[in-house]
This record gives sequence, C-alpha cells and structure tokens, in this order.
Amino acid sequence: MKKVLITADRVIVGPASQVTVDGAVLVESGIIGAVGTAAELDASVDAHIPRLRCPGATVLPGMMDCHVHLAFDAGPDPISAVTDADPRELSTAIAERAQQLLAAGVTTVRDLGDRDGLTVALRSSIDSGAVVGPRVIAATAPLTSPGGHCGFLGGEVTTDDDIREQIARNAASGADVIKVMASGGALTPKGPRMWEAQFTARQLRLIVEEAAHHGLGVAAHAHGTETIGHCVTAGVRTIEHCSWRTAEGIVYDPAITQGIVDNDISVCRCVSGDWQLFLEQMGPERAKAMIELIQEMREAGVRFIAGTDAGVPGARFGDYVGMLEFFASLGFENAEILDMATVNPAHALGLSDTGVLAPGMRADLIVVDGNPLTELGSLRRVQHVFSAGRSVMN
Ligand SMILES: [Zn+2]
Repeated sequence: MKKVLITADRVIVGPASQVTVDGAVLVESGIIGAVGTAAELDASVDAHIPRLRCPGATVLPGMMDCHVHLAFDAGPDPISAVTDADPRELSTAIAERAQQLLAAGVTTVRDLGDRDGLTVALRSSIDSGAVVGPRVIAATAPLTSPGGHCGFLGGEVTTDDDIREQIARNAASGADVIKVMASGGALTPKGPRMWEAQFTARQLRLIVEEAAHHGLGVAAHAHGTETIGHCVTAGVRTIEHCSWRTAEGIVYDPAITQGIVDNDISVCRCVSGDWQLFLEQMGPERAKAMIELIQEMREAGVRFIAGTDAGVPGARFGDYVGMLEFFASLGFENAEILDMATVNPAHALGLSDTGVLAPGMRADLIVVDGNPLTELGSLRRVQHVFSAGRSVMN
C-alpha cells in the first residue's frame, strides 16, 4: 500500500474543535503514520514519499453513516425490492450503494438490517481488497416479532429460545451488532403501529444479555416512548429514531432522556437528505413538535450520531450531507455536526481505531474543498477519499 503525505489549509484532527492550520497527514500501510503541521512533516518525511498538496482544502476523518439498509433500493416498495430480487443482482446493487456512500465521503457504514447476510459478504469482499467500499458494520437480520417490522428480512422471534437462537445465528453469520425492532415501524403496514412495543422490557434485557454473550452490542429501533424507556433499562448501545410516540401523540419524557445520557447511550435520529419534503408532508405542527424533541434532547446532553436510513422510501444513498444540513437548520454548530459524523459514531459503535486522525489509527479520511467548520456545504465537494489508506477516487 502506497505512502502519501497529504497537506492542506487545515486538518480537522478530531473532535472538530481540534484543528491544525496548514496541516499534514502521513498515510502509510493503511494507517495514519503522523499528523502535524505541513512544515514539520514536509521536513521530517522522506522526500521520496509522494506529496498530495491540497490548497484551499480541509482534511478530516472519514464520515460515518450509522443507519443504512444497503439491501433496500430507496424506492416506494423496498419490501418487494428485497424479497423478489435475484440474490446475485441484489449483491451487485448493495456493493454499488456502498460505493455511492464512500464517494460521498462516508468511510464507515452501519447496516441495520439486510437479508441472507449479504452485507457480511460485502464486508468480506471489501476487507479482502476484491471490492472497493467503506468499512461495513453489519447487523444482518433484525430481531422482530412475528409479522412485525421488517419481518421479511428473516428475524422473526417469539419465545426466549427463539431470541437466543436468532442472536446466535446472526453472530455465527458474522454480525457486528444485533439490531432489534423494539417498536413497530412505518415500513411494515400490517405490523404493530410505530408506538407499539414489539418486545417486553424483560425480552429486551434478554436480547442485550444474549448479544453480550457473543460480544455484541444492541442497536434498538424505538419510536414509542414506553419502548424507549425499556431500551434504556435494558442497556442497548444505540437508540434508532427515538421519536417519542404514543397512541395519543408525542409524549416526551425527560427522565428517560436522563437515563440515555447517564447510560452512555447514543441516539441516531435518522433523517434523509430530502428532509424538507418530509417536514412538509408532516405538516407544520408535527414538524415543529419533532424539532422541539431534538432540541430538548440536545439540551439534555444526548450524544447524537449521524444516520440517513438510506434505502427506505425516499432516503437516497449518497445524500449524506443533506442529512447533516438538517441539524444545521436546527441551530447545531458545524463542529457539533462534524462530531456527530465522526467521533460520536466511533464511540457509539465501539470503534477505537477511527473517527479521529492520529498516529496508529486506520487511515479513513477525506479531503474536501473549503472549510466545513464555516461552510457545511463544502462536504459536498469531496476531492479525495481514503479508506484504510487506499485512495478510492481521483
Ligand atoms: Zn432503518
């Protein structure tokens, strides 16, 4: 693997408050060899090592999308798109979608629900170097109740033994994380409503314990307020959506939020790139309520991680920055948003070798034209992407 010394106007070392002006990063053998000022590293790094000079640009850690479904096609009927697809064609489509994310500067994706372990197969192809793609963290088949949310992916469970067996099956097939559909969801019309629990508090605890036996954390899809509370008590690692729904409408519970903060649980408030359309469809009152919930959680100190839910209807792959701009529209600082895309996910996903630029870390980094700390849109002008030290574009 080639060595290269990248220099740019600034290096966001991570977290985003840590910036080296006129900085440089040495990439060697898939890892970061050194980080410093351009003057220092230009002088100390062997003159034969190629220089990649990027005037006007920023180097920053590769971004992470903590919630995607590579097996879904973002079209109106993802269920048929997954269940009727020819497995070989679906594998090709999955690889292409992962590459779209990578080209957008996303060097790590967490897939939270696929079929037949297809994303694990993609992960192996990427890791072996046969295919170019982002680092893949795969959940395989999400646990769900019979006829429940995304049951068509193959993870329906009823009894405690079913739960143990499904987790063991996922772990054996190479899952990196266990996903549970703790409440209903919008995608599965005949299943429980979004606020209805699919598992009891006791079952959720069992799922977390069983996953831990296999060395895995749990990501819980949870829309319902009561279910969110049960997920906190059970000790899940991340809560997906976290939209505080009940049969009577939105009911926010600050005590549960305090539990989220105290137990170091991260929240992936999935938002697609075309969130403006989504807000319009919600209507002003519901949209305002949803935004207020996010503000409340932010003020309480919740750690947010960035995720697009790419693959579900309307959530396109590769429109990652659009999702980040949603948080900017709510008044989040650019540095805070960059942390949601880098250091926060690394912490939440238990990845200690990525998310910041430091010697010994995986060389997952991107170069963008401009300064994302002052102009978030500069993240759309990706000039270079390095995935484990491999330059994957330009
Ligand atoms: Zn999802």
